[in-house]
Amino acid sequence: MNDPPAATGATSVVDATALIERLYPICRSITGEGVRATLSIIGEHLPVVVSEVASGTPVLDWVVPPEWNIRDAYIADASGRRVVDFNASNLHIVSYSVPVHARMTLDQLRPHLHTLPDHPDWVPYRTSYYDESWGFCLSQNQLDALVDGIFEVRIDSTLAPGSLTYGEVVVPGRSDREILVSAHICHPSLCDDNLSGVAVAVSLAAALLAGAPPRHTFRFLFAPGTIGSITWLERNRERLPRIDAGLTLTCLGDDHRFTYKRTHSGDDAIDRCAAVALAESGYPYQLIDYFPYGYDERQYNSPGFRLPVGSLMRGRHGAFDEYHTSADDLGFVSAERIAESVAVLQRVLDIADRERTMLNLVPFGEPQLGRRGLYRAVGGTDIADAQMAMLWVLHLSDGDHSLLDIADRSGLSFDSIEATAELLEQNALVRQVEPSPNTIGAAIEEEHP
Ligand code: ZN
Repeated sequence: MNDPPAATGATSVVDATALIERLYPICRSITGEGVRATLSIIGEHLPVVVSEVASGTPVLDWVVPPEWNIRDAYIADASGRRVVDFNASNLHIVSYSVPVHARMTLDQLRPHLHTLPDHPDWVPYRTSYYDESWGFCLSQNQLDALVDGIFEVRIDSTLAPGSLTYGEVVVPGRSDREILVSAHICHPSLCDDNLSGVAVAVSLAAALLAGAPPRHTFRFLFAPGTIGSITWLERNRERLPRIDAGLTLTCLGDDHRFTYKRTHSGDDAIDRCAAVALAESGYPYQLIDYFPYGYDERQYNSPGFRLPVGSLMRGRHGAFDEYHTSADDLGFVSAERIAESVAVLQRVLDIADRERTMLNLVPFGEPQLGRRGLYRAVGGTDIADAQMAMLWVLHLSDGDHSLLDIADRSGLSFDSIEATAELLEQNALVRQVEPSPNTIGAAIEEEHP
């Protein structure tokens, strides 16, 4: 249903910082023109297939909400001066605010105002997607400067039947097994949280499209948080058993060390790939266990799906002061950190793409490698790594050990073990064991017919 069109345009190098700068001013939410504008800009770099799903459509346990769009919003004082102005920053409006045009006192206005008293210069980011309300966000200093009087409050928004929008970029691989990379695109002017994940995903997708086809088909999903992944899951059930690994991305441009959040099981291939890639990267990092809060990994890891989707971040979502505030601006992310994140992500997924389990086709005794030109005797006791890798791959390719297991047990690098497996496969000494499909919802559907 979502086959990609033929790739068009330049897809090799993306200036991630320039992309973030262009996307930053757009007022995104979980639906609306901001999401479409964002996908359209991503579409300048990549062949994006955009899906629109009508408001009111049931998706899993949810319903696609009405579409929200906003043109203007402000609070003006008695002289008509805008004391809070959506045009100065789209963070000033609570996302999904219903339209309002009224006059009121400061005390009447106060319940609708949100500030961060601990950071009096910063504007918080707030949403109200699923109950009808309205509000403004402003700095504590702005609030303290307001003098009581009659204020004009205007929110020129619409909340009406429309659709939810998401975009997919597919990098065709040599098999129909998939690796999923998911980034949310529902936050307005916030850089680290949402735009860094988008920019890193776009950079990687462009690099993959410019190179030789990977083993897996890579699917990049750019969707609003929660409702977007829920909608995608509802519409892609037949695809889910083929997903071997996945990551959600956010907060990848800040100065914090890397954080990898494991999948529900904590022992999926992606968990081990991330651990290996981060260990060899030389960058500081932490590995943390799954917990059911955060971004779309919550949907992918839910009991009915249990997809092997981890989460790659630097600063952990919700755990640093700038998170969901106006301080998460263009100055909070840097080209250097984004470039590091692209490199780490690329390595994690490169390993995930090539991780597999092989079966020794000549398992009774050792195969005669010399006859096949594979064994070059080395003098003394110094056995070259290449020979050692061959012996390890043959020894552990019993169907129970993956290439990462073999690398781990042998102390040899994954790249060396993987290249050896490829060579042995070309010589018909091993073949890949077909990965078993994810048993999506098997246990659940028995309980919940
Ligand atoms: Zn967020």
